[in-house]
Amino acid sequence: NEALLEVDNLCMHFPVREGLLLRARTFNRAVDGVSFSIGPGETLGLVGESGCGKSTLGRCVARLYRPTGGSIRFNGQDITHLPDRTLRPLRRDIQMIFQDPMESLNSRHTVGDILEEPFIVQKLGGRPWRQKRVAELLNTVGLPARSASRYPFEFSGGQRQRIGIARAIALNPKLVICDEPVSALDVSIQSQILNLLVDLQREFKLSYLFIAHDLAVVKHVSDRVAIMYLGKIVETAASETIYHQARHPYSQSLIAAIPVPDPHRRVQRQVLHGDVPSPINPPSGCSFHPRCPVAEERCSRQTPTLLDIGGNQLAACHLVPGRP
Ligand code: SF4
Ligand code: MG
Repeated sequence: NEALLEVDNLCMHFPVREGLLLRARTFNRAVDGVSFSIGPGETLGLVGESGCGKSTLGRCVARLYRPTGGSIRFNGQDITHLPDRTLRPLRRDIQMIFQDPMESLNSRHTVGDILEEPFIVQKLGGRPWRQKRVAELLNTVGLPARSASRYPFEFSGGQRQRIGIARAIALNPKLVICDEPVSALDVSIQSQILNLLVDLQREFKLSYLFIAHDLAVVKHVSDRVAIMYLGKIVETAASETIYHQARHPYSQSLIAAIPVPDPHRRVQRQVLHGDVPSPINPPSGCSFHPRCPVAEERCSRQTPTLLDIGGNQLAACHLVPGRP
């Protein structure tokens, strides 16, 4: 029952440039003390409004960034501070899928070249073997093998995301970080891509860190869900639990914001007021307090910690008592 990924108290604080001086004491606390784990074959959904630090967290886990604090253990190895030149084996095992496939696919290269590249970087196989693998990959993501000779712009958004997915799974990774993989797609296409991801997970025993701002999207693919606000995880629970028994006021407001298909069902939509505050000067105490509908006086002074509240659920709120 070893975790594949163990993230402990992870921080990514970017120094902030003010004027011409780089003031060493001003930081953007994009990720500020985050802990979670992901088991083999498991999907953790990571949800929060834009700017909450979820993409930065994903990039830290993929070691596209070097974290400024805490630790990341992957497959039993501490990868937190591995220098770039030793990251090549890790680049096989941890892959990313991005929101906009066009941004991540080099538009001047054919799809075949794009999908061959991971093998070339890893010095795997000769040209004929690689081309055979490319054809297999295209087939695996539901595209015809002849797509290899075409260019990304010749495909629809959904097809381009299939190409992005093919590239991500090319090297048989263990963990795929999906950063808003369907946010840019039409709703009808979204479910096709989500189904593909679920099928590939079963076939290749993948673990996913599935990042989204939309709880409804995450619901269908996640075993567990973590809710993030201003650089911190405020609640985690099993996927079914979070929708019916969310305990943190921020999670509750995200769930209340999911559109209800039945117009006769009267659900009080709790609308969050105000924007997400800046992670450069986060509010004191519980950083959600300026927007929290049930905040108390102590909330602006005391920072709540993420506590086990029973039933494999954790929450960081003064009004939600931890398990004794
Ligand atoms: Fe709201 Fe206070 Fe709980 Fe923060 S600690 S979520 S401000 S009640
Ligand atoms: Mg993002």
